[in-house]
Amino acid sequence: MGLSLYVDAARFRANQHRILATLPEVVPVAKGNGYGLGNRRLADEARSLGVDTLAIGTYAEVDEVADTFPGSLLVLSPWRAFEAPTEPNPRLIHTIGRVSDLEGLLARDPEARFVLERLTSMVRHGFTPRELREAGDFLRSHEGGARFEGIAFHLPMGGASHLSEVQRLMTDAVAAGLPPTTIWVSHLTAAELAQLARAWPDYTIRPRIGTDLWLGDRGAFTVKATVLDSHHVERGALFGYRGRAAPKTGTILVVSGGTAHGIGLEAPTGANTIKARAGAIARGGLDAAGFVRSPYSIGGKQRLFAEPPHMQASMLFVPQGSAVPDIGDEIDVRVRYTATAFDRVVIA
Ligand SMILES: *Cc1c(COP(=O)(O)O)cnc(C)c1O
Repeated sequence: MGLSLYVDAARFRANQHRILATLPEVVPVAKGNGYGLGNRRLADEARSLGVDTLAIGTYAEVDEVADTFPGSLLVLSPWRAFEAPTEPNPRLIHTIGRVSDLEGLLARDPEARFVLERLTSMVRHGFTPRELREAGDFLRSHEGGARFEGIAFHLPMGGASHLSEVQRLMTDAVAAGLPPTTIWVSHLTAAELAQLARAWPDYTIRPRIGTDLWLGDRGAFTVKATVLDSHHVERGALFGYRGRAAPKTGTILVVSGGTAHGIGLEAPTGANTIKARAGAIARGGLDAAGFVRSPYSIGGKQRLFAEPPHMQASMLFVPQGSAVPDIGDEIDVRVRYTATAFDRVVIA
């Protein structure tokens, strides 16, 4: 069974349909580890949702989704001559953030589909206002069937409203003489999207959404590790790669999940400040015997690593007197979905 992600299919899909109902222009995002579910599975969900476009992270991910999702594929990573495919692919919508890349793309495929990305306060990728005007000039002079599909903004998460920033960025798009088509955005609230649509009625607003769409209802997910082995140890007995002595009598429990799955040394605490983290350590991040808190818990009680996680399994220490699960039982484990490689995903 290994490390398993169990998904309550009804809740998982109800959340997707809730978002689709309020934001019918949604562009689902499938990238990286597929938010824990895998990109192919997400492509299948997007196909069932009936959306026309799926956003993927990189060109390397095209093959993971292309056979499953039949529509357009918006590649979020910017086009680069050294990364993009050399063959034209009419299903791809490329993301362009530099004039030289626009020239490079259209030299390879004069009829390519693309969005122009405007640099935002994220300062990740995209055109400055001046460069965007250059891109607009280049497009007007370009002979051929280049397909400009809109302007893209990648906004920071949370914090104050990003609407005023979007308004400024839109002015740049207009100044660049780009025709009104589609605005592709991330991380705006439904209210902000509605305001944007009112302010720019000539444009279609398309929110790219991953986390809220796939992981929006956390109650739909349960993560379980399997108990693989169990050994009673007396105080002072040696165990582990480092031959460490058990500081007290108890059980060494070997459970599935290790560094290859993304199981880390520190349990996710949700503590973002140094002060909160210090507090978490004070509250038992490290026990008196020097064991480190693990993300595994048994019967609702968080357990300690007996030693750092191995490649595919972890060793926990369960002190004498506490309940010890049987080999083959499953126990709870807290993970970050975007950083975990599950052995299996069960949607039922
Ligand atoms: C990942 C990503 C998104 C989706 O972000 P979520 O927080 O998962 O919804 C949107 N736009 C871009 C450019 C991204 O890289």
